[in-house]
Amino acid sequence: MHRPSQRQHGSVAEEDNHNHSEYEGIVIAGGGIGGLATALALYRVGLKCLVLEQGSSLRTTGAALNLWTNAWKELEALGIAEDLRTRHARLLGSRMVCVEDGLDKKVSYRNHEVRCVKRSVLIETLAAALPSGAIRFNSRVVAVLRSSNSDYPTIALEDGTYIKAKVLIGCDGVNSVISRWLGIQPTRLLGRSTSRGLSVYPQGHSFEPRLYINLENGVRVGYIPINDTEVFWFLNRKSVPKDLETARDPKLIIQEALDSLKGFPEEYHDIVLRTQTDSPTLTLLRFRWPWAVLFGRICKGTVTIAGDAMHAMTPHIGQGGCSTLEDAVILGRCLAEGMHGKSIGTKDEEKTRIQTALKKYVTERKWRVFMLMTKSYITGLLQPGSGRFMKFLREKIMAKVFGNALGHAHYDCGSLYATTESF
Ligand SMILES: Cc1cc2nc3c(=O)[nH]c(=O)nc-3n(C[C@H](O)[C@H](O)[C@H](O)COP(=O)(O)OP(=O)(O)OC[C@H]3O[C@@H](n4cnc5c(N)ncnc54)[C@H](O)[C@@H]3O)c2cc1C
Repeated sequence: MHRPSQRQHGSVAEEDNHNHSEYEGIVIAGGGIGGLATALALYRVGLKCLVLEQGSSLRTTGAALNLWTNAWKELEALGIAEDLRTRHARLLGSRMVCVEDGLDKKVSYRNHEVRCVKRSVLIETLAAALPSGAIRFNSRVVAVLRSSNSDYPTIALEDGTYIKAKVLIGCDGVNSVISRWLGIQPTRLLGRSTSRGLSVYPQGHSFEPRLYINLENGVRVGYIPINDTEVFWFLNRKSVPKDLETARDPKLIIQEALDSLKGFPEEYHDIVLRTQTDSPTLTLLRFRWPWAVLFGRICKGTVTIAGDAMHAMTPHIGQGGCSTLEDAVILGRCLAEGMHGKSIGTKDEEKTRIQTALKKYVTERKWRVFMLMTKSYITGLLQPGSGRFMKFLREKIMAKVFGNALGHAHYDCGSLYATTESF
């Protein structure tokens, strides 16, 4: 038997001679927000699936993320919005200060639902809503193989297992094996890094539920109350650490953040000093050029991608995770249309129906994520403190090209047609 781990990742082998140890209907590579949300969407429409996660447990790093109105609609479709709402405060608005630009801008979220959600809570809530056995840990996908007698994909795992699937959905993040197999341009380093952490106030804090951002000298720092006792902070800089050890050591991440806070309001020091010891992370930001998605092949046969595997974007408009939840709901709906009802028909007919469903998904997603990726990239490029010319572009051009600054968060990807078959 071939050892998949000895192959180049993402390679395609014709006429492979391996033993298919297993057969699964729908397989999802990656058990992050995208993989788990897609699995939940599929179960809610009555389609069984298997999530393959490379880690030995759920990956909950990254502290927290902002979920906007569009995400709450999707979480409602997935049936877990209420649970998350009770644990995360609704934000009233944001305040952005940049002394260099003379900027002190307040934005009301009156027409939006925005909450800063702990990643661990989101991931665990998604996983808890899935039937037992839906996630298989220690299952790293290393290659997709195509056998000569069928167009259905075979998935090779690092441990030597092969799984044949009717549908393969790559939710395996910014270094996706599946998007590489599809031939999509890889993600790139942005040359910026972000430290993030969770701070705890056992007696309660006194911050209003708002997103606070300060920008100075190329550093963008902010904090957001999650609930009465926890606050999420982030620090984004236009550089990456010279020593990658810093990125791995929580103490060094905190120290480095404190060093970068010179000249910022004193409250930031206190927030960072209160960081929960296991929560800080330092991430080298990666993104994909928007045209790679617009012109790339997002679906081949019955293989497609979702989440960061498709549309890794910069974090400047906080839409990476929100749009990943959109993918999940739309995939669930499209595959339900393609795989349910009527008589199954011949194998070829079934395959054609699945391919049509996936093409519909790609058509629905391409322009939407292209616009979000573009807006996010440009927002980061033109952020306050980037000089007068950038200020001019920001004030005169952005509004004309993209309209309402927060308009993207009103997107409604629609509901799932849940069946009772799934649970
Ligand atoms: C600094 C920063 C701030 C952000 N802020 C926000 C925000 O405020 N709001 C927002 O909506 N989004 C935000 N995002 C984006 C958001 O975090 C991502 O878009 C989201 O996590 C994508 O989820 P995913 O499941 O596609 O990928 P991931 O979360 O990366 O999950 C991929 C999963 O696949 C697994 N995996 C990888 N390779 C394999 C393999 N070969 N085989 C099996 N498993 C594999 C990994 O272990 C992981 O569990 C931010 C991102 C960053 C970096």
